[in-house]
Amino acid sequence: MKESIYTIPLTDIFKKEANDGCPVCRMREMLENRCIEYIMGAAMMEPDIRMETNKYGFCASHLERMMHQKNRLSLALMLETHLDELMAQHMPPAAKKKGEESPVHTCFVCREIDRVSEKFLQNAARTAAADPAFLELVCDQEYYCFAHYDLFCRIIADTLPKKQAKPLIEALTQRTKAYLQTLRDDVHSFTLMFDYRSKGQNENERTKQAVANAVSYLSK
Ligand SMILES: [Zn+2]
Ligand SMILES: [Zn+2]
Repeated sequence: MKESIYTIPLTDIFKKEANDGCPVCRMREMLENRCIEYIMGAAMMEPDIRMETNKYGFCASHLERMMHQKNRLSLALMLETHLDELMAQHMPPAAKKKGEESPVHTCFVCREIDRVSEKFLQNAARTAAADPAFLELVCDQEYYCFAHYDLFCRIIADTLPKKQAKPLIEALTQRTKAYLQTLRDDVHSFTLMFDYRSKGQNENERTKQAVANAVSYLSK
């Protein structure tokens, strides 16, 4: 049951019509919505899911998201047993074993998104290596935000044999570099607006928005 709620066909994310921003962001947003809907609904009473939500809790942004859902009783029931677990297991704070996370820094929803994203991107890497039409779709996206370009390349390198990984990483790198270069050039034009020698020459809307665009890109 749990895995089937996360099923997203590769082509739903990489299709041409969805050419809007970063495909990995689109996929993660879909997983986030499905995960929250799932735990606030049917899964809330499932003992194995409940054990995980008790253990990992939720980050501030996911608590906020759940607060604004209709079913506040679901949230109350999950919080009740999570608070029990905090009192029973983490007070006073025990010395952590190596690699163990503090309950202050874990979130059930974030963990699920990371876990399923990895599988999705492994599948995308294998499919792109086997199917040139899909490879073209993967490369022909508006952009990959830098964090997701980095994540995807690492997963490709870990999933595929070197010979298959190399051209895919090169294609994604070329695309992402071209996008970063555009952002960089726009930011440079912005700085020239403050240079008396070129004052007024570069003052178009795109230049004025350059810093906001670069900040938004790097914040994803
Ligand atoms: Zn992204
Ligand atoms: Zn979270």
